[in-house]
Amino acid sequence: MTTTSITHDLAATALAALERIGASVPTAGDGPTLHARSPLTGQNLLELPAASVADVDSAVRAAHRAFLTWRSVPAPVRGGLVKRLGQLLTDHKADLAELITIEAGKITSEALGEVQEMIDICDLAVGLSRQIGGRTMPSERPGHRLMETWHPLGVVGVISAFNFPAAVWSWNTAVALVCGDPVVWKPSEMTPLVSIASAALLDRAIADSDAPRDLHRLVLGARDVGEALVQHRHVALVSATGSERMGAQVGPLVAARNGRYLLELGGNNAAVVAPTADLDLAVRGIVFAAVGTAGQRCTTMRRLIVHEDIVDDVVARLATAYRGLPVGDPRAEGTLVGPLINAASRDRMRAALERAVDDGGTVVVGGETVEVPAAPGAVYVSPALVRMPHQSALVTEETFAPILYVMTYRTLDEAIEIHNGVPQGLSSSIFTRDQREAERFLSEAGSDCGIVNVNIGTSGAEIGGAFGGEKSTGGGRESGSDAWRAYMRRATNTVNYSDELPLAQGVNFA
Ligand code: NAD
Repeated sequence: MTTTSITHDLAATALAALERIGASVPTAGDGPTLHARSPLTGQNLLELPAASVADVDSAVRAAHRAFLTWRSVPAPVRGGLVKRLGQLLTDHKADLAELITIEAGKITSEALGEVQEMIDICDLAVGLSRQIGGRTMPSERPGHRLMETWHPLGVVGVISAFNFPAAVWSWNTAVALVCGDPVVWKPSEMTPLVSIASAALLDRAIADSDAPRDLHRLVLGARDVGEALVQHRHVALVSATGSERMGAQVGPLVAARNGRYLLELGGNNAAVVAPTADLDLAVRGIVFAAVGTAGQRCTTMRRLIVHEDIVDDVVARLATAYRGLPVGDPRAEGTLVGPLINAASRDRMRAALERAVDDGGTVVVGGETVEVPAAPGAVYVSPALVRMPHQSALVTEETFAPILYVMTYRTLDEAIEIHNGVPQGLSSSIFTRDQREAERFLSEAGSDCGIVNVNIGTSGAEIGGAFGGEKSTGGGRESGSDAWRAYMRRATNTVNYSDELPLAQGVNFA
């Protein structure tokens, strides 16, 4: 394990990146404030003004006024705005990635990957702007046409988590804009600078495209700001990404006003490793999924269900890989594991490891604090590999830190039962060369997740597919495929082009 020291002045680096992007940083006044902080050092970087409930109200009202114009702009023209956003993201890829590293702690390659994902979703949304369409169905009545049309929905309220501080916003925003919807964004209170930068790029794209200025509004703040957004009657869709706890609070509030919501919540993702698996490939896939982003992805692999005949071999290989993981400054060449977001995360990780031991588990490797001398306020840990005798209550919870619990199975039925025996249903995978096993895992009687992979890990989804999960993960779908439908309203139309008025179902009303 290696560490590097952190010597840069992060506030100056962040401000320089913001300046290159063209973002102006608001100064805190007498009202509520928010601190931009970096997990690289644990230091506060800047003090920023937070929105009040009244600010949220005026942002939503302004976005709603923009909606009344934007909804009638042809979708392919709306796509032009998103195309411009994609160009600006391409121009400032390195700047935005640098801010993601500073505020979320991602290694440079993963931060660049996050911005690439934003560019990719812009491409997808531009194509979508010429493809949004409904179906025509045969009418039972002669001289009638039965069809559906899709219309813009209204203001989309986006609430996002710290671990994908920009990409989740772009999945929602690129698609919402081509669908004819403005966005009001409440980002994580832990990543305000990334959101200021992202919003500045969109503001520039809006100005360059002569689109309504209030198509996008940023409201910085914590939970109270999110709650005000969620409850606003002009927010037609609340798209909220975060913990299961947050989803359990947001869902009922939106439901109480019969609003629409799309929830992307916590995961507790697992892989099954079958006896025929290519273990070299499996170990590489497992390590990336379990320790990438320091175990702080919603799709992080947290459980490994290994056939009992190969478990010792798999654990030995993983332990060797874990011992060689470079932990430290995520900007340094070669680092694979950056910091945890804060000390509370480390405390939850420690408590989980203690509970695992109480439940009969053994920590094979990791779980220690890694000291980085120049960053005493930061939290660096070595990812933990833990063997568990069974799937205890602890293992069924998402601990948002790099802990991989290893359990064993004898039959595929047993593996699937363990796999599905948790409240969450986001991502899953099986490593096998047996096609029957792979197909079984993919089938209705296999994994119960929204993402089901074969011979790759649980994380690192592409934007072309719909992204999201079942059960307590919330059931929402974002990004590709037909996820755009959540951002529009459907109208069913029956058009009579005959001289008669036949009624459906043969009803006679004469
Ligand atoms: P979090 O739930 O603490 O916060 C997420 C966002 O919700 C923040 O902006 C926060 O201010 C806001 N929020 C919290 N309570 C709220 C409330 N009552 N009303 C309105 N807004 C509220 O999550 P986090 O720690 O930032 O992120 C980690 C969690 O997010 C993990 O559980 C992870 O699995 C999940 N996540 C899920 C996905 C997905 O697509 N399924 C993607 C990324 C992260």
